Amino acid sequence: MQDTSTAPLPLSCLSEEETMFRDAVREFAETEIKPFVSEMDEAAQFRPDIIAKFFGMGLMGIEVPEIYGGAGGSIFLATIAIEEVARVDASAAIYVDVHNTLVNNALLRWGSDEQQARYFPRMTADLLGAFALSEPASGSDAFALECKAEKVAGGWALTGRKFWITNGAEAGIFIVFANADFSKGYKGITAFLVERGFAGFDVGKKENKLGIRASSTTELILEGCFVPDANVLGPVGQGYKIAIETLNEGRIGIGAQMLGVATGALEAATKYVKERKQFGKAIAEFQAVQFQLAQMATDLEAARLMVYNTARLKDAGKPFATEAAMAKLFSSQTADRITSQCVELFGGYGYSKEYPAEKFYRDAKIGTIYEGTSNMQLQTIAKVLLK
Ligand SMILES: Cc1cc2nc3c(=O)[nH]c(=O)nc-3n(C[C@H](O)[C@H](O)[C@H](O)COP(=O)(O)OP(=O)(O)OC[C@H]3O[C@@H](n4cnc5c(N)ncnc54)[C@H](O)[C@@H]3O)c2cc1C
Repeated sequence: MQDTSTAPLPLSCLSEEETMFRDAVREFAETEIKPFVSEMDEAAQFRPDIIAKFFGMGLMGIEVPEIYGGAGGSIFLATIAIEEVARVDASAAIYVDVHNTLVNNALLRWGSDEQQARYFPRMTADLLGAFALSEPASGSDAFALECKAEKVAGGWALTGRKFWITNGAEAGIFIVFANADFSKGYKGITAFLVERGFAGFDVGKKENKLGIRASSTTELILEGCFVPDANVLGPVGQGYKIAIETLNEGRIGIGAQMLGVATGALEAATKYVKERKQFGKAIAEFQAVQFQLAQMATDLEAARLMVYNTARLKDAGKPFATEAAMAKLFSSQTADRITSQCVELFGGYGYSKEYPAEKFYRDAKIGTIYEGTSNMQLQTIAKVLLK
């Protein structure tokens, strides 16, 4: 694939420390990930050495306290990291995103001291996490999940199937949601910390996908999987709350991923239009092309402000759930539109794997689907409006 990257677009309101962090992640992404992006996408296989480097760079425990080997940082820093990695590769970004904003986040908020002391030192060193809520028959209607948890001596036996689980091929620890008492409806849902090696746990088929192809998305099979009492995350019956609240932070991460994808596409297109000549001049000289680029940059900046503001709200301890839904909705729609227009600006070459535009386009689509489809974000926002 040809290198069409160019100078970075301006970024909004970062402190000096945040700028230094962003620059470090950008350099890491450019040197350690970019050379392998095409080959990983083509093979639908992520390089394990890059996952090890995420841990080595301190990108896998951004909000985890330093006593557990984390960086003791903020969701804002996680947002910048995800955005910068996604600017180069959205698949790489989702490894960092799910691990930080879903798995670490849930353990930080709901894990006991003992669970945090047991898992965080490894989750900041080499143990990758996954978040398993969706099932074949329950996606948007997540609380209709059918996976069941039956009480047995010393723990729980989990039976059912999970679907679409990001990081499934490589993760060593899974937050699995199962219903411990169907008579209570969604108030029976409970979260469990399931290790890959637990008896009765298996990773099933890996999906062959349109975009984020190098990110693994797998089925999980639980056949009476024994989970000790010590691995119940949060109170029994509070799993629905854990899922909702964790996904609120997760949506900031998806917003950040979409910012990165749109930035990568726009930078590539901005460089290309200066090089490509038609009618005797660079296509960048046509005002129509200039205005398209200017509109895209403006839309992207608006999306960035929404995502950053939501991260700042979360870090300030203020309510942020509605803003997270808006940021995720708008940034994924914006990325969808920008990456599509970038393909067009590349003309026929945009349709070819010789250039990066088509991959950004494919990678953007997932933003409108996972961690709640656009309709689900609209539903969340509308509920608040009409309350
Ligand atoms: C690549 C990938 C990675 C994923 N990673 C994970 C993961 O790590 N963990 C995990 O738990 N899940 C994961 N998911 C699952 C993802 O969260 C779900 O796919 C998503 O929530 C949508 O659910 P669904 O696919 O069942 O679609 P459905 O819920 O069947 O929705 C289909 C369509 O119907 C619309 N719709 C549904 N209900 C309503 C309604 N009430 N009002 C209006 N419209 C509605 C939706 O907006 C959508 O357009 C992943 C999915 C993908 C594709």
